[in-house]
Amino acid sequence: MRYDITLIPGDGIGPEVTEAARRVLEVTGVEFNWELVEVGSDAMEKYGTPLPDSVLESIKKNRIALKGPVTTPVGSGFRSVNVALRKELGLYACLRPCKTYPGTPSRYQDVDIVVVRENIEDLYSGIEFEKDTPEIFRLIKLVSETKNETIRTDSGISIKAISEMRSRRIVRFAFDYARKYNRKKVTAVHKANIMKYSDGLFLSVAREAAGEYPDIEFEDRIVDNMCMQLVQKPHQFDVIVAPNLYGDILSDLCAGLVGGLGLAPGANLSDDIAVFEATHGSAPKYTGMNKVNPLAMMLSGVLMLRHLNEIQAADRLENAIADVIAEGKNVTYDLKPDNPETAVGTSHVADAVISKLD
Ligand code: NAD
Repeated sequence: MRYDITLIPGDGIGPEVTEAARRVLEVTGVEFNWELVEVGSDAMEKYGTPLPDSVLESIKKNRIALKGPVTTPVGSGFRSVNVALRKELGLYACLRPCKTYPGTPSRYQDVDIVVVRENIEDLYSGIEFEKDTPEIFRLIKLVSETKNETIRTDSGISIKAISEMRSRRIVRFAFDYARKYNRKKVTAVHKANIMKYSDGLFLSVAREAAGEYPDIEFEDRIVDNMCMQLVQKPHQFDVIVAPNLYGDILSDLCAGLVGGLGLAPGANLSDDIAVFEATHGSAPKYTGMNKVNPLAMMLSGVLMLRHLNEIQAADRLENAIADVIAEGKNVTYDLKPDNPETAVGTSHVADAVISKLD
């Protein structure tokens, strides 16, 4: 069987790591038709939009995409392509496994945490009010009238909305994942003590949904305490479920526990569409240098193979990657903190993984 996959190289280091991942996937024995599409600043120049409709159509048709990172201009310029993709395609769950592979230079060994992040709402929904606009003044007036609270008129405002339906959906996703992959515990993360109507709602829905899964342990943690606990005792955690912003931050923290962003894969999922991408961004300062680690992108490819139910190929590729890490010879600078001068480049890592697959 040949799979049609939408391939989005992205920008910055995206094209290099995506090409490395594509090359190793090609030799797993599974066959792919790659449908190449462009997003971001290149698409903006050519089509006048950073996210052309043809990209969304390609993903909707193929239902699976492998995506490199895309730069989001800070403060001004176009809105995030990544956020728009998740919203447009209803990719409500972001799955980010963080696992230590033997040989990884890292503070911990045997960490195996899966972060499940709500991917659509919360402060990330992109509903924002710009300083000094008529809309923000109306909102500030409404808050003053209804809440008897003053928001300074020189403010900018971002809306944090958390819904019952989306909270329940992501918590159930986390528990279903835990059940399917034999995980023992789900930890919900929030700041419900302060944000009683948004995070408080998330927590109460999480507690209720946990009742549907008596076979899996459930606990909750306040996000600041969670950060400290993760750094001190990461082994106590199994599956973590969190609203969008905390999930984003915690998944980078967890990536740091297992060797860094160069080893952290991810998937953005709806019930019928899946976009696989590394947790890391486009790291613009390394663009075109053949320097960064392609393993996070390759491990995202492993997740894609599992999603396709190509379990044998997924296991083979993951084992080949693990072998390369364990040998510690053909790895990039981030995995050689003590002797970075012996590090190899992005494409060389792909060659090494391919040689293990032969
Ligand atoms: P980043 O993840 O791009 O890079 C942060 C640092 O992490 C890099 O400077 C580098 O030291 C390290 N790093 C990242 N990927 C690595 C790899 N594969 N190998 C080795 N080291 C690696 O984060 P940033 O600098 O905050 O963001 C850069 C751009 O990427 C921004 O425009 C941001 O919006 C965007 N971004 C995109 C996505 C996405 O497309 N899904 C995700 C995160 C950030």
